[in-house]
Amino acid sequence: MNQHRNLSRNLQNEPIAAREGLIDRMPKQCKQRTLKCLRTNLLTILTLFGVLAGIVLGIILRASRDDKWTQREIMYVTFVGDIFLQMLKCLILPLITASIITAIGGIDLSLSGRIGGRAVGYYMATTVSAVILGMVLCVVIQPGSGVIAETEDDEEDKSSGRNFTTVDTLMDLVRNMFPPNLIQACIQQYQTVLLPPSKSQLEKATKNLTLYDWKISHKFENGMNIMGLVVFSVVFGITISKMGKNGEPLLKFFTALGAAMMIITNWVIWISPLGVAFLIAGKMLEMETFGVLVGQLGMYFMTVLLGLFIHGFIVTPFYFTIATRTLPFRFIANMAEALVTAFGTASSNATLPLSMKCLEEKNNIDPRVSRFVMPIGATINMDGTALYEAVAAIFISQVRGRVLTLGQLIAISITSTAASIGAAGIPQAGLVTMVMVLDTVGLPSEDVTLIIAVDWLLDRFRTTINVLGDSLGAGIVNHFSKSELNLLPNVPLADAERQETQTGKLSSEEVEWNTTPM
Ligand code: ASP
Repeated sequence: MNQHRNLSRNLQNEPIAAREGLIDRMPKQCKQRTLKCLRTNLLTILTLFGVLAGIVLGIILRASRDDKWTQREIMYVTFVGDIFLQMLKCLILPLITASIITAIGGIDLSLSGRIGGRAVGYYMATTVSAVILGMVLCVVIQPGSGVIAETEDDEEDKSSGRNFTTVDTLMDLVRNMFPPNLIQACIQQYQTVLLPPSKSQLEKATKNLTLYDWKISHKFENGMNIMGLVVFSVVFGITISKMGKNGEPLLKFFTALGAAMMIITNWVIWISPLGVAFLIAGKMLEMETFGVLVGQLGMYFMTVLLGLFIHGFIVTPFYFTIATRTLPFRFIANMAEALVTAFGTASSNATLPLSMKCLEEKNNIDPRVSRFVMPIGATINMDGTALYEAVAAIFISQVRGRVLTLGQLIAISITSTAASIGAAGIPQAGLVTMVMVLDTVGLPSEDVTLIIAVDWLLDRFRTTINVLGDSLGAGIVNHFSKSELNLLPNVPLADAERQETQTGKLSSEEVEWNTTPM
Protein backbone atom coordinates (compact mmCIF):
# COMPACT_ATOMS: atom_id res chain seq x y z
CA MET A 1 0.00 0.00 0.00
CA ASN A 2 2.77 2.39 0.96
CA GLN A 3 4.53 1.58 -2.28
CA HIS A 4 1.36 2.38 -4.26
CA ARG A 5 1.01 5.69 -2.46
CA ASN A 6 4.66 6.55 -3.19
CA LEU A 7 4.22 5.55 -6.81
CA SER A 8 1.20 7.84 -7.37
CA ARG A 9 2.98 10.67 -5.55
CA ASN A 10 5.95 10.23 -7.90
CA LEU A 11 3.69 10.12 -10.96
CA GLN A 12 2.17 13.51 -10.10
CA ASN A 13 5.55 15.15 -9.57
CA GLU A 14 7.56 13.77 -12.48
CA PRO A 15 7.58 15.00 -16.12
CA ILE A 16 5.85 12.84 -18.79
CA ALA A 17 9.10 11.46 -20.28
CA ALA A 18 10.28 10.36 -16.88
CA ARG A 19 6.82 8.89 -16.18
CA GLU A 20 7.08 6.78 -19.36
CA GLY A 21 10.48 5.53 -18.17
CA LEU A 22 8.89 4.55 -14.90
CA ILE A 23 6.15 2.59 -16.64
CA ASP A 24 8.74 0.91 -18.84
CA ARG A 25 10.51 -0.25 -15.74
CA MET A 26 7.39 -1.68 -14.10
CA PRO A 27 7.42 -5.20 -15.60
CA LYS A 28 11.03 -5.51 -14.46
CA GLN A 29 10.03 -4.42 -10.96
CA CYS A 30 7.16 -6.92 -11.02
CA LYS A 31 9.56 -9.65 -12.01
CA GLN A 32 11.93 -8.67 -9.25
CA ARG A 33 9.13 -8.62 -6.70
CA THR A 34 7.95 -12.07 -7.81
CA LEU A 35 11.50 -13.41 -7.56
CA LYS A 36 11.92 -11.82 -4.14
CA CYS A 37 8.61 -13.24 -2.99
CA LEU A 38 9.62 -16.70 -4.26
CA ARG A 39 12.98 -16.42 -2.53
CA THR A 40 11.43 -15.43 0.82
CA ASN A 41 8.81 -18.17 0.60
CA LEU A 42 11.05 -20.83 -0.92
CA LEU A 43 11.16 -22.92 2.24
CA THR A 44 7.38 -22.77 2.70
CA ILE A 45 6.84 -23.85 -0.90
CA LEU A 46 9.39 -26.65 -0.52
CA THR A 47 7.80 -27.83 2.76
CA LEU A 48 4.32 -27.90 1.19
CA PHE A 49 5.85 -29.78 -1.71
CA GLY A 50 7.36 -32.17 0.88
CA VAL A 51 3.88 -33.01 2.23
CA LEU A 52 2.58 -33.75 -1.29
CA ALA A 53 5.70 -35.74 -2.16
CA GLY A 54 5.29 -37.76 1.08
CA ILE A 55 1.66 -38.62 0.26
CA VAL A 56 2.52 -39.57 -3.35
CA LEU A 57 5.54 -41.62 -2.22
CA GLY A 58 3.40 -43.38 0.39
CA ILE A 59 0.71 -44.24 -2.17
CA ILE A 60 3.27 -45.49 -4.73
CA LEU A 61 5.16 -47.61 -2.19
CA ARG A 62 1.92 -49.12 -0.86
CA ALA A 63 0.70 -49.91 -4.36
CA SER A 64 4.06 -51.42 -5.37
CA ARG A 65 3.56 -54.47 -3.14
CA ASP A 66 0.72 -56.86 -2.36
CA ASP A 67 2.05 -57.92 1.03
CA LYS A 68 2.48 -55.66 4.06
CA TRP A 69 5.63 -53.57 4.50
CA THR A 70 7.70 -54.95 7.35
CA GLN A 71 8.61 -52.84 10.37
CA ARG A 72 12.26 -52.83 9.25
CA GLU A 73 11.41 -51.58 5.76
CA ILE A 74 9.23 -48.82 7.22
CA MET A 75 12.13 -47.87 9.48
CA TYR A 76 14.34 -47.42 6.40
CA VAL A 77 11.72 -45.17 4.77
CA THR A 78 11.26 -42.99 7.87
CA PHE A 79 14.99 -42.79 8.64
CA VAL A 80 15.50 -39.25 7.26
CA GLY A 81 12.26 -38.09 8.92
CA ASP A 82 13.36 -39.52 12.26
CA ILE A 83 16.69 -37.71 12.05
CA PHE A 84 14.87 -34.44 11.35
CA LEU A 85 12.53 -35.05 14.29
CA GLN A 86 15.44 -35.82 16.60
CA MET A 87 17.23 -32.63 15.56
CA LEU A 88 14.14 -30.58 16.42
CA LYS A 89 13.60 -32.40 19.71
CA CYS A 90 17.21 -31.77 20.66
CA LEU A 91 16.57 -28.01 20.50
CA ILE A 92 13.48 -28.05 22.72
CA LEU A 93 15.11 -28.16 26.17
CA PRO A 94 17.64 -25.31 25.75
CA LEU A 95 15.20 -23.29 23.64
CA ILE A 96 12.26 -23.45 26.04
CA THR A 97 14.25 -22.71 29.17
CA ALA A 98 16.41 -19.96 27.64
CA SER A 99 13.42 -18.31 25.91
CA ILE A 100 11.23 -18.12 29.00
CA ILE A 101 14.05 -17.02 31.31
CA THR A 102 15.20 -14.29 28.90
CA ALA A 103 11.70 -13.08 28.10
CA ILE A 104 10.68 -12.73 31.76
CA GLY A 105 14.09 -11.77 33.17
CA GLY A 106 14.57 -8.99 30.60
CA ILE A 107 11.45 -6.95 31.42
CA ASP A 108 9.95 -5.64 34.62
CA LEU A 109 7.70 -7.98 36.53
CA SER A 110 4.46 -6.05 36.22
CA LEU A 111 4.80 -6.07 32.41
CA SER A 112 5.63 -9.78 32.22
CA GLY A 113 2.66 -10.38 34.53
CA ARG A 114 0.41 -8.46 32.13
CA ILE A 115 1.78 -10.33 29.07
CA GLY A 116 1.36 -13.68 30.84
CA GLY A 117 -2.14 -12.74 31.98
CA ARG A 118 -3.20 -11.79 28.45
CA ALA A 119 -1.84 -15.08 27.09
CA VAL A 120 -3.56 -17.19 29.74
CA GLY A 121 -6.84 -15.28 29.21
CA TYR A 122 -6.64 -16.05 25.48
CA TYR A 123 -5.78 -19.72 26.15
CA MET A 124 -8.76 -20.18 28.44
CA ALA A 125 -11.19 -18.42 26.06
CA THR A 126 -10.11 -20.40 22.99
CA THR A 127 -9.90 -23.78 24.75
CA VAL A 128 -13.38 -23.40 26.22
CA SER A 129 -14.84 -22.33 22.87
CA ALA A 130 -13.13 -25.29 21.15
CA VAL A 131 -14.64 -27.72 23.68
CA ILE A 132 -18.13 -26.21 23.35
CA LEU A 133 -17.90 -26.31 19.54
CA GLY A 134 -16.82 -29.97 19.60
CA MET A 135 -19.65 -30.92 21.95
CA VAL A 136 -22.30 -29.09 19.90
CA LEU A 137 -21.10 -30.71 16.67
CA CYS A 138 -21.04 -34.19 18.22
CA VAL A 139 -24.50 -33.85 19.76
CA VAL A 140 -25.94 -32.51 16.46
CA ILE A 141 -24.19 -34.90 14.04
CA GLN A 142 -24.48 -37.97 16.34
CA PRO A 143 -21.53 -39.83 14.73
CA GLY A 144 -21.76 -42.67 17.26
CA SER A 145 -25.42 -43.60 17.09
CA GLY A 146 -25.98 -47.14 15.79
CA VAL A 147 -23.84 -50.16 16.57
CA ILE A 148 -20.11 -50.50 16.02
CA ALA A 149 -18.44 -53.87 15.58
CA GLU A 150 -15.35 -54.48 17.66
CA THR A 151 -12.32 -55.41 15.61
CA GLU A 152 -9.64 -57.93 16.48
CA ASP A 153 -7.31 -55.04 17.30
CA ASP A 154 -9.73 -53.89 19.97
CA GLU A 155 -9.40 -57.20 21.74
CA GLU A 156 -5.62 -57.12 21.47
CA ASP A 157 -5.37 -53.63 22.84
CA LYS A 158 -7.72 -54.26 25.73
CA SER A 159 -5.15 -56.40 27.45
CA SER A 160 -2.73 -53.47 27.52
CA GLY A 161 -5.28 -51.07 29.07
CA ARG A 162 -3.78 -48.96 31.87
CA ASN A 163 -5.47 -48.02 35.11
CA PHE A 164 -5.80 -44.38 36.05
CA THR A 165 -8.26 -42.38 38.06
CA THR A 166 -9.06 -38.77 37.16
CA VAL A 167 -7.90 -37.50 40.52
CA ASP A 168 -4.51 -39.28 40.14
CA THR A 169 -4.01 -37.81 36.66
CA LEU A 170 -4.81 -34.29 37.89
CA MET A 171 -2.55 -34.66 40.93
CA ASP A 172 0.30 -35.97 38.75
CA LEU A 173 -0.11 -32.88 36.58
CA VAL A 174 0.34 -30.59 39.59
CA ARG A 175 3.16 -32.75 41.03
CA ASN A 176 5.03 -32.55 37.73
CA MET A 177 4.92 -28.75 37.91
CA PHE A 178 7.31 -28.96 40.86
CA PRO A 179 9.97 -31.54 39.92
CA PRO A 180 12.16 -32.76 42.77
CA ASN A 181 15.24 -32.85 40.55
CA LEU A 182 15.86 -30.57 37.56
CA ILE A 183 18.22 -32.97 35.78
CA GLN A 184 15.68 -35.76 36.12
CA ALA A 185 12.93 -33.40 34.85
CA CYS A 186 14.86 -33.18 31.56
CA ILE A 187 14.27 -36.87 30.94
CA GLN A 188 11.53 -38.24 33.20
CA GLN A 189 8.20 -37.38 34.76
CA TYR A 190 6.24 -38.60 37.78
CA GLN A 191 3.38 -41.04 37.33
CA THR A 192 1.07 -42.60 39.91
CA VAL A 193 0.73 -46.36 39.51
CA LEU A 194 -2.16 -48.37 40.94
CA LEU A 195 -1.37 -51.95 41.87
CA PRO A 196 -4.22 -54.49 41.66
CA PRO A 197 -5.03 -56.37 44.91
CA SER A 198 -3.50 -59.81 45.39
CA LYS A 199 -5.62 -62.96 45.61
CA SER A 200 -5.41 -63.07 49.41
CA GLN A 201 -6.42 -59.39 49.67
CA LEU A 202 -9.40 -60.09 47.44
CA GLU A 203 -10.42 -63.01 49.63
CA LYS A 204 -10.12 -60.94 52.82
CA ALA A 205 -11.99 -57.95 51.38
CA THR A 206 -15.43 -57.32 52.82
CA LYS A 207 -16.65 -55.25 49.84
CA ASN A 208 -16.05 -55.01 46.10
CA LEU A 209 -12.66 -53.38 45.57
CA THR A 210 -12.58 -50.46 43.11
CA LEU A 211 -9.58 -48.64 41.60
CA TYR A 212 -9.69 -46.30 44.59
CA ASP A 213 -8.94 -49.23 46.92
CA TRP A 214 -5.91 -50.44 44.96
CA LYS A 215 -2.43 -49.98 46.42
CA ILE A 216 -0.82 -46.67 45.41
CA SER A 217 2.71 -46.61 44.09
CA HIS A 218 4.57 -44.40 41.63
CA LYS A 219 7.25 -44.48 38.96
CA PHE A 220 9.23 -42.00 36.89
CA GLU A 221 8.28 -42.47 33.26
CA ASN A 222 10.62 -41.62 30.39
CA GLY A 223 9.78 -38.33 28.65
CA MET A 224 10.77 -34.72 29.34
CA ASN A 225 8.77 -33.05 32.12
CA ILE A 226 8.15 -29.87 30.12
CA MET A 227 5.52 -28.58 32.55
CA GLY A 228 8.07 -28.69 35.40
CA LEU A 229 10.76 -27.03 33.31
CA VAL A 230 8.37 -24.27 32.20
CA VAL A 231 7.32 -23.54 35.80
CA PHE A 232 10.95 -23.51 36.97
CA SER A 233 12.00 -21.23 34.07
CA VAL A 234 9.19 -18.78 34.89
CA VAL A 235 10.31 -18.66 38.55
CA PHE A 236 13.96 -18.33 37.49
CA GLY A 237 13.09 -15.49 35.07
CA ILE A 238 11.18 -13.67 37.83
CA THR A 239 14.18 -14.06 40.15
CA ILE A 240 16.62 -12.67 37.57
CA SER A 241 14.33 -9.72 36.98
CA LYS A 242 14.18 -9.05 40.74
CA MET A 243 18.00 -9.32 41.08
CA GLY A 244 18.56 -6.29 38.85
CA LYS A 245 22.23 -5.63 38.06
CA ASN A 246 23.40 -8.76 39.90
CA GLY A 247 21.28 -10.95 37.66
CA GLU A 248 22.62 -9.48 34.41
CA PRO A 249 25.37 -12.08 33.78
CA LEU A 250 22.76 -14.85 34.02
CA LEU A 251 20.40 -12.95 31.73
CA LYS A 252 23.19 -12.47 29.17
CA PHE A 253 24.05 -16.17 29.31
CA PHE A 254 20.47 -17.30 28.67
CA THR A 255 19.96 -14.64 25.98
CA ALA A 256 23.01 -15.92 24.12
CA LEU A 257 21.87 -19.53 24.60
CA GLY A 258 18.41 -18.77 23.16
CA ALA A 259 19.97 -16.89 20.25
CA ALA A 260 22.31 -19.80 19.52
CA MET A 261 19.35 -22.22 19.48
CA MET A 262 17.52 -20.00 16.99
CA ILE A 263 20.55 -20.02 14.71
CA ILE A 264 20.67 -23.81 14.81
CA THR A 265 16.91 -23.81 14.08
CA ASN A 266 17.65 -21.74 10.98
CA TRP A 267 19.93 -24.51 9.78
CA VAL A 268 17.74 -27.48 10.75
CA ILE A 269 14.77 -25.89 9.09
CA TRP A 270 16.21 -26.56 5.63
CA ILE A 271 15.81 -30.29 6.18
CA SER A 272 12.10 -29.92 6.94
CA PRO A 273 10.80 -30.57 3.37
CA LEU A 274 12.70 -33.88 3.23
CA GLY A 275 11.94 -34.78 6.84
CA VAL A 276 8.22 -34.11 6.53
CA ALA A 277 8.03 -36.07 3.24
CA PHE A 278 9.62 -39.22 4.70
CA LEU A 279 7.69 -39.02 7.99
CA ILE A 280 4.40 -38.90 6.08
CA ALA A 281 5.40 -41.63 3.60
CA GLY A 282 6.45 -43.93 6.48
CA LYS A 283 3.21 -43.32 8.36
CA MET A 284 1.20 -44.17 5.24
CA LEU A 285 3.01 -47.50 4.96
CA GLU A 286 2.34 -48.30 8.63
CA MET A 287 -1.37 -47.58 8.27
CA GLU A 288 -3.61 -50.64 8.17
CA THR A 289 -6.15 -49.54 5.56
CA PHE A 290 -8.15 -46.48 4.57
CA GLY A 291 -11.25 -48.70 4.95
CA VAL A 292 -11.56 -47.61 8.60
CA LEU A 293 -12.54 -44.17 7.42
CA VAL A 294 -15.92 -45.35 6.17
CA GLY A 295 -18.90 -45.90 8.42
CA GLN A 296 -19.19 -44.74 12.00
CA LEU A 297 -15.50 -44.12 12.55
CA GLY A 298 -15.49 -42.07 9.36
CA MET A 299 -18.35 -39.96 10.73
CA TYR A 300 -16.37 -39.43 13.95
CA PHE A 301 -13.29 -38.50 11.89
CA MET A 302 -15.27 -36.00 9.83
CA THR A 303 -16.89 -34.48 12.95
CA VAL A 304 -13.49 -33.83 14.57
CA LEU A 305 -12.11 -32.52 11.27
CA LEU A 306 -15.07 -30.16 10.77
CA GLY A 307 -14.70 -28.89 14.34
CA LEU A 308 -10.94 -28.35 13.91
CA PHE A 309 -11.51 -26.49 10.65
CA ILE A 310 -14.22 -24.21 12.09
CA HIS A 311 -12.19 -23.52 15.22
CA GLY A 312 -8.81 -23.05 13.54
CA PHE A 313 -9.83 -21.17 10.43
CA ILE A 314 -12.97 -19.30 11.50
CA VAL A 315 -13.26 -18.89 15.31
CA THR A 316 -9.66 -18.08 16.35
CA PRO A 317 -8.94 -15.94 13.24
CA PHE A 318 -12.16 -14.07 14.11
CA TYR A 319 -10.82 -13.39 17.62
CA PHE A 320 -7.56 -12.26 16.02
CA THR A 321 -9.33 -9.88 13.63
CA ILE A 322 -11.46 -8.37 16.40
CA ALA A 323 -8.49 -7.99 18.75
CA THR A 324 -5.89 -6.66 16.31
CA ARG A 325 -8.21 -5.01 13.74
CA THR A 326 -6.21 -6.74 11.00
CA LEU A 327 -7.14 -9.52 8.62
CA PRO A 328 -5.57 -12.86 9.63
CA PHE A 329 -4.77 -14.25 6.15
CA ARG A 330 -1.25 -12.93 5.78
CA PHE A 331 -0.45 -13.86 9.38
CA ILE A 332 -1.65 -17.45 8.86
CA ALA A 333 0.13 -17.74 5.48
CA ASN A 334 3.35 -16.61 7.15
CA MET A 335 3.01 -19.49 9.62
CA ALA A 336 2.74 -22.10 6.82
CA GLU A 337 6.18 -23.62 7.45
CA ALA A 338 5.36 -24.23 11.12
CA LEU A 339 1.86 -25.54 10.34
CA VAL A 340 3.14 -28.03 7.77
CA THR A 341 5.85 -29.19 10.19
CA ALA A 342 3.20 -29.62 12.90
CA PHE A 343 1.25 -31.83 10.49
CA GLY A 344 4.37 -33.81 9.57
CA THR A 345 5.70 -34.33 13.10
CA ALA A 346 2.39 -34.45 15.08
CA SER A 347 4.21 -32.65 17.89
CA SER A 348 3.71 -29.05 19.07
CA ASN A 349 6.94 -29.28 21.05
CA ALA A 350 9.03 -30.36 18.07
CA THR A 351 7.43 -27.57 16.00
CA LEU A 352 8.23 -24.92 18.61
CA PRO A 353 11.57 -23.74 17.14
CA LEU A 354 9.89 -23.23 13.74
CA SER A 355 6.79 -21.52 15.16
CA MET A 356 8.98 -19.03 17.03
CA LYS A 357 11.08 -18.40 13.95
CA CYS A 358 8.05 -17.78 11.71
CA LEU A 359 6.46 -15.47 14.29
CA GLU A 360 9.59 -13.37 14.80
CA GLU A 361 10.96 -13.26 11.28
CA LYS A 362 7.84 -13.28 9.15
CA ASN A 363 5.11 -11.88 11.37
CA ASN A 364 7.35 -9.39 13.13
CA ILE A 365 6.30 -10.48 16.62
CA ASP A 366 8.44 -9.04 19.40
CA PRO A 367 10.78 -11.82 20.63
CA ARG A 368 9.96 -10.81 24.19
CA VAL A 369 6.40 -11.91 23.49
CA SER A 370 7.01 -14.96 21.26
CA ARG A 371 9.73 -16.39 23.51
CA PHE A 372 7.56 -15.98 26.57
CA VAL A 373 4.16 -17.12 25.36
CA MET A 374 5.01 -19.76 22.74
CA PRO A 375 6.77 -22.31 25.01
CA ILE A 376 3.94 -21.93 27.53
CA GLY A 377 1.32 -22.16 24.77
CA ALA A 378 2.90 -25.31 23.31
CA THR A 379 2.68 -26.88 26.78
CA ILE A 380 -0.76 -25.84 28.03
CA ASN A 381 -2.78 -24.42 25.13
CA MET A 382 -4.11 -27.19 22.89
CA ASP A 383 -7.43 -26.16 21.35
CA GLY A 384 -7.37 -28.96 18.79
CA THR A 385 -6.73 -31.57 21.47
CA ALA A 386 -9.47 -30.15 23.74
CA LEU A 387 -12.01 -30.27 20.90
CA TYR A 388 -11.01 -33.80 19.98
CA GLU A 389 -11.20 -35.02 23.60
CA ALA A 390 -14.77 -33.72 23.94
CA VAL A 391 -15.92 -35.17 20.58
CA ALA A 392 -14.25 -38.54 21.25
CA ALA A 393 -15.77 -38.91 24.75
CA ILE A 394 -19.28 -38.14 23.48
CA PHE A 395 -18.76 -40.37 20.41
CA ILE A 396 -17.71 -43.32 22.61
CA SER A 397 -20.70 -42.73 24.89
CA GLN A 398 -22.99 -42.77 21.85
CA VAL A 399 -21.38 -45.99 20.60
CA ARG A 400 -21.89 -47.56 24.02
CA GLY A 401 -25.52 -46.44 23.99
CA ARG A 402 -25.17 -44.08 26.98
CA VAL A 403 -27.47 -41.08 27.14
CA LEU A 404 -25.49 -38.24 28.66
CA THR A 405 -27.12 -35.83 31.11
CA LEU A 406 -26.41 -32.10 31.05
CA GLY A 407 -24.28 -32.56 34.18
CA GLN A 408 -22.18 -35.20 32.43
CA LEU A 409 -21.75 -32.95 29.39
CA ILE A 410 -20.50 -30.17 31.67
CA ALA A 411 -18.16 -32.66 33.38
CA ILE A 412 -16.83 -33.69 29.94
CA SER A 413 -16.19 -30.05 29.04
CA ILE A 414 -14.23 -29.45 32.24
CA THR A 415 -12.16 -32.63 32.03
CA SER A 416 -11.50 -32.13 28.29
CA THR A 417 -10.05 -28.72 29.09
CA ALA A 418 -7.91 -30.21 31.88
CA ALA A 419 -6.90 -33.15 29.66
CA SER A 420 -5.72 -30.77 26.91
CA ILE A 421 -3.68 -28.77 29.43
CA GLY A 422 -2.17 -31.98 30.79
CA ALA A 423 -1.41 -33.53 27.38
CA ALA A 424 2.24 -33.22 26.39
CA GLY A 425 3.05 -31.69 23.00
CA ILE A 426 4.10 -35.06 21.60
CA PRO A 427 2.41 -37.47 19.16
CA GLN A 428 -0.88 -38.97 20.42
CA ALA A 429 -0.50 -37.59 23.94
CA GLY A 430 -4.21 -36.69 23.79
CA LEU A 431 -5.10 -40.37 23.56
CA VAL A 432 -3.47 -40.96 26.95
CA THR A 433 -5.23 -38.11 28.76
CA MET A 434 -8.50 -39.19 27.11
CA VAL A 435 -8.72 -41.86 29.83
CA MET A 436 -9.45 -39.07 32.30
CA VAL A 437 -12.39 -37.77 30.24
CA LEU A 438 -13.82 -41.28 29.81
CA ASP A 439 -13.54 -41.85 33.55
CA THR A 440 -15.78 -38.80 34.12
CA VAL A 441 -18.71 -40.47 32.36
CA GLY A 442 -17.95 -43.89 33.80
CA LEU A 443 -16.54 -45.44 30.64
CA PRO A 444 -13.60 -47.85 30.89
CA SER A 445 -10.18 -46.69 29.70
CA GLU A 446 -10.07 -49.60 27.19
CA ASP A 447 -12.75 -47.81 25.14
CA VAL A 448 -10.08 -45.56 23.64
CA THR A 449 -9.43 -48.54 21.37
CA LEU A 450 -12.65 -47.61 19.52
CA ILE A 451 -10.95 -44.56 18.04
CA ILE A 452 -7.34 -45.76 17.88
CA ALA A 453 -7.46 -46.69 14.18
CA VAL A 454 -7.82 -43.08 13.03
CA ASP A 455 -6.02 -41.36 15.87
CA TRP A 456 -2.63 -41.07 14.18
CA LEU A 457 -4.20 -39.06 11.34
CA LEU A 458 -6.45 -36.90 13.53
CA ASP A 459 -3.41 -36.21 15.71
CA ARG A 460 -1.71 -34.46 12.80
CA PHE A 461 -4.70 -32.22 12.15
CA ARG A 462 -5.21 -31.34 15.82
CA THR A 463 -1.50 -30.59 16.29
CA THR A 464 -1.69 -28.17 13.34
CA ILE A 465 -4.64 -26.38 15.00
CA ASN A 466 -2.80 -26.38 18.36
CA VAL A 467 0.18 -24.61 16.77
CA LEU A 468 -2.08 -22.21 14.85
CA GLY A 469 -3.95 -21.32 18.06
CA ASP A 470 -0.69 -20.61 19.92
CA SER A 471 0.58 -18.45 17.06
CA LEU A 472 -2.59 -16.37 16.70
CA GLY A 473 -2.49 -15.94 20.49
CA ALA A 474 1.07 -14.61 20.27
CA GLY A 475 -0.13 -12.16 17.58
CA ILE A 476 -2.96 -10.93 19.83
CA VAL A 477 -0.76 -10.63 22.93
CA ASN A 478 1.87 -8.81 20.84
CA HIS A 479 -0.75 -6.34 19.62
CA PHE A 480 -1.91 -5.48 23.13
CA SER A 481 1.61 -5.34 24.58
CA LYS A 482 3.23 -3.37 21.72
CA SER A 483 2.93 0.10 23.22
CA GLU A 484 4.28 -1.05 26.60
CA LEU A 485 7.18 -2.92 25.00
CA ASN A 486 8.05 0.02 22.74
CA LEU A 487 8.84 2.07 25.83
CA LEU A 488 11.57 -0.41 26.81
CA PRO A 489 14.99 -0.85 25.18
CA ASN A 490 15.10 -3.55 22.48
CA VAL A 491 15.48 -7.18 23.47
CA PRO A 492 19.21 -7.89 23.88
CA LEU A 493 19.54 -10.33 21.01
CA ALA A 494 23.02 -11.68 20.51
CA ASP A 495 24.72 -9.98 17.58
CA ALA A 496 25.22 -13.28 15.82
CA GLU A 497 21.50 -14.03 15.82
CA ARG A 498 20.68 -10.57 14.58
CA GLN A 499 23.06 -11.02 11.62
CA GLU A 500 21.70 -14.48 10.91
CA THR A 501 18.04 -13.48 11.03
CA GLN A 502 18.57 -10.37 8.93
CA THR A 503 19.44 -12.50 5.91
CA GLY A 504 15.96 -13.98 5.62
CA LYS A 505 14.00 -11.23 7.35
CA LEU A 506 11.23 -9.21 5.72
CA SER A 507 11.36 -5.46 6.06
CA SER A 508 8.74 -3.98 8.31
CA GLU A 509 6.77 -2.58 5.31
CA GLU A 510 6.36 -6.08 3.97
CA VAL A 511 4.81 -7.36 7.16
CA GLU A 512 1.41 -6.15 6.07
CA TRP A 513 -0.68 -7.83 8.75
CA ASN A 514 1.06 -5.67 11.29
CA THR A 515 0.84 -2.37 9.50
CA THR A 516 -2.18 -2.45 7.21
CA PRO A 517 -5.34 -1.34 9.00
CA MET A 518 -8.55 -3.12 8.07
N1 ASP B 1 0.14 -34.31 19.29
C1 ASP B 1 -0.52 -33.21 19.94
C2 ASP B 1 0.44 -32.03 20.04
O1 ASP B 1 1.63 -32.23 20.05
C3 ASP B 1 -1.07 -33.56 21.28
C4 ASP B 1 -2.22 -34.52 21.12
O2 ASP B 1 -3.34 -34.06 20.92
O3 ASP B 1 -2.02 -35.72 21.15
O4 ASP B 1 0.02 -30.90 20.10
